[in-house]
Amino acid sequence: MKYHINKYIGDMMDIFDREMARSSIFLDRNVLSPHYIPDHLPFREKEIEKIMKVLAPALRKKRPSNLFIYGKTGTGKTATVKHVMEKFDQAKEKYNSPVDHIYINCRTHNRKYQVLLKMVESLYPGENFMGFASTHLYDRILENISSKDIVFITVLDEVDQVKDIDDLLYMLTRANDHIEKGHISIIGISNNVTFLEKLDPRSKSTLMQEEMVFAPYNAIQLKAILAERAKLAFREGMCDDSALELAAAYAAQESGDARYALKLLLKAGEIADESGEKVTDKHVKLARSAVEEDIVVDLIETLPEHPAIVLYSIAELSKEGGRYAKLTGISREVGDKVLFSGEVYERYETLCTKWNKKPRSARWYREYLKELEMMGLITITMSGKGIRGNTQLIRLAYNPEKVIAAVEKKFE
Ligand code: ADP
Ligand code: MG
Repeated sequence: MKYHINKYIGDMMDIFDREMARSSIFLDRNVLSPHYIPDHLPFREKEIEKIMKVLAPALRKKRPSNLFIYGKTGTGKTATVKHVMEKFDQAKEKYNSPVDHIYINCRTHNRKYQVLLKMVESLYPGENFMGFASTHLYDRILENISSKDIVFITVLDEVDQVKDIDDLLYMLTRANDHIEKGHISIIGISNNVTFLEKLDPRSKSTLMQEEMVFAPYNAIQLKAILAERAKLAFREGMCDDSALELAAAYAAQESGDARYALKLLLKAGEIADESGEKVTDKHVKLARSAVEEDIVVDLIETLPEHPAIVLYSIAELSKEGGRYAKLTGISREVGDKVLFSGEVYERYETLCTKWNKKPRSARWYREYLKELEMMGLITITMSGKGIRGNTQLIRLAYNPEKVIAAVEKKFE
């Protein structure tokens, strides 16, 4: 018996040893992570310069304008601003300037209160302000900035996520009118400009004293960005140049998103590494479908409850085959995935009852369909007069099993 256990443990050790002895194609996969900030940001020299110009007066105690930066996801806005803030800190040390700054990601701090809390906590390190009213936080922020007579640069990344943004901007503007010494400057960043339309005109003019747009990268630029990272991420000769080119081309199609390009490369690297191969086009293609699935799972994660149930109904019916194929005699392969709007609504009602939710009206249901279509999860066409009058035909854009699993995970 003892012998067997020892032998068993011996075999296990072999697996670990082999794992450790196996040389990975990666040198350092961290440089492909979304959190890694490269020392050098090619193709953003002009943007870096412009942000520095806006901030430079602060070093001499002059009030810099507020700046609003926008552009699509993955165009390097966050990386560029963080890069500039690092330089700014260095200049502050060098010239002993009365400035300070804070970076706040509003996706995780999406209320005025939370933003003020972050600000006050950074001005009074070690003090706890949880539970104090926002007017108290506001007073303490002003007191600090004014007594030190500093310019306080507040970076609000993904600023469109702040639910009570008008209140926040109003409060920060008012702060500048109220303090005798010192100043608060805002750098707002957003992936989405449509939120500006909903903004109070006063907030808008506060936020946009200066503005700049980050343009999407083209395929050549993305290739260069990837090549620079690949040098650090992979062992020599472990990543084909054409694989980088392909990943760049895919990402250029996805609105020039460098984050997507890096995600593809990381995934391709992981797939190649598992089978001990170098990264080639094949792995980038595999990575593309894997990453797309991840994105769908993330999308589903953010869906409200009822649209998620509608999506689930569509996925179940696509798996079982809807009435359309039976009615039209179209081959099951083609027809099964086409669903009548009515049958989806019936399934939705059934599922709501089963899960103890009150089903929403058909009017709401049509809104949910529109939402799902806008997110690219389904496509909607009209049937034309021949079939059942003129009804909406619905088709799931992704694999039903994957969608079902993602919704179930969400409701877990
Ligand atoms: P955004 O904030 O515009 O959505 P990010 O700044 O987060 O985009 O950039 C996405 C990813 O792409 C990050 O990992 C970032 O390091 C990388 N990246 C963006 N632009 C560049 C660039 N010019 N050079 C190198 N890496 C870049
Ligand atoms: Mg960003």
